[in-house]
Amino acid sequence: MALTGLDIFKLLPKTNCGECGVPTCLAFAMALAAGKTSLEACPHVSEEAKETLGAAAAPPIRLVTLGTEADDHRIEIGDEQVLFRHDKTFYHPCAVAVEVRDDLSDADLQARLDKINGLVFERVGLEYKIDLVAVTNASGDAARFAAAAKKVADSTKFALMLVSEDSGALREALEAVAARRPVLAWATEANYEEVVALAKEKGCPVVIKGDGLDATAGLADKVSKMDHKDLILDTGARETAEVLADLVHMRRLAIKKRFRPLGYPTIAFTTEEDPQAEMMQAATYVAKYASMIVIRAVERPEVLSLLTWRQNVYTDPQKPIQVQSKVYEVGEPGRDAPVYITTNFSLTYYTVEGEVAASKIPSYIIPVDTDGTSVLTAWAAGKFTGESIAETMKNLDIESKVDHREVVIPGFVAVLSGKLQEASGWKVLVGPREAAGIPAFAKEKFGK
Ligand code: SF4
Repeated sequence: MALTGLDIFKLLPKTNCGECGVPTCLAFAMALAAGKTSLEACPHVSEEAKETLGAAAAPPIRLVTLGTEADDHRIEIGDEQVLFRHDKTFYHPCAVAVEVRDDLSDADLQARLDKINGLVFERVGLEYKIDLVAVTNASGDAARFAAAAKKVADSTKFALMLVSEDSGALREALEAVAARRPVLAWATEANYEEVVALAKEKGCPVVIKGDGLDATAGLADKVSKMDHKDLILDTGARETAEVLADLVHMRRLAIKKRFRPLGYPTIAFTTEEDPQAEMMQAATYVAKYASMIVIRAVERPEVLSLLTWRQNVYTDPQKPIQVQSKVYEVGEPGRDAPVYITTNFSLTYYTVEGEVAASKIPSYIIPVDTDGTSVLTAWAAGKFTGESIAETMKNLDIESKVDHREVVIPGFVAVLSGKLQEASGWKVLVGPREAAGIPAFAKEKFGK
């Protein structure tokens, strides 16, 4: 059971020296109990107290790393501090694993791996990709499982996961790919001593699967006493509502009650056959609160929709994704190329860029630094004004790149035309309100 603020206070020096950054030991104890500071902030705490307070000072959900640095796929999961993103932020995006069964024919296995290797996307200036390949022992044959694991390891750089309840099969497959430090699944009530010993021996994270929430907590407690702490929790539920309820309970108990046996990252497995239904199921688990999911879909449109959703959930709401404010070239613009103005919110910029490219007229785009806010938000906040646009144009020296003096602003801020014209000396053209109107606008204004 987690210690309360008063329990912690009794173990502190009670000198109120303030060196920890708060004025009193009581305030520090309360902050430590709430997970808002760490024990290291107090330089005067005794060794005995450190030992007792260790549990209270630990994060509510343990940080677990997957994969290795060497294959460029080291992933961190867990270590979340809040229930709701708007309370603070979420730190470690849900890791997405794609399943590969070991009963596929060689040709089907290769075809699936080719598709999996293609699940890397570039969107709004960021790279989206899946994180792991989960090899499942569907054949029940240990040698076949090991061969499939080796084939996957040789054919992909993604981190690996080995899925079997047969500890002998896990051992054989692990021997083949131990250097990749795969996640081992599953340690169950029946096999946990062998599987956890195997995980400890090779330094691998292990998924423990209980039969329901209580049994999972009990098993996690037993496994943690074997001195292996890199655990991922699976309650064994597979029906969507049940999985969701378990994930929510685990997160609440870990964060709000500091219930240590459930203070580990969690995993969920999709079961829907239809790919779109599967993505809806996966999206539900990404939102609340899986640290890791295993999916079967390998088609790019479906997986991109899931990764986009993940990106949204795990974007810090206080720090919108931004592009650098500079002069961007679309195509090979000449000295008569149009100049478009927008804001540096990534989604806005890349939407505009896509439509400018679709116009097939080489152009310049200047995203003004509005702290990553969209056009109307930036205008309403006073961050997108005639003066700030003119200043950006001057600082980026757009004058030296074109012979004309015409600039296009978004239709939603037509009201800025006069001020911008006055501040820059350029003629202002009011573009369409929606980016989708740019190709027709460009054709009419700049088409030859
Ligand atoms: S640094 Fe330690 S002793 Fe000083 S006020 Fe903070 S908790 Fe108390």
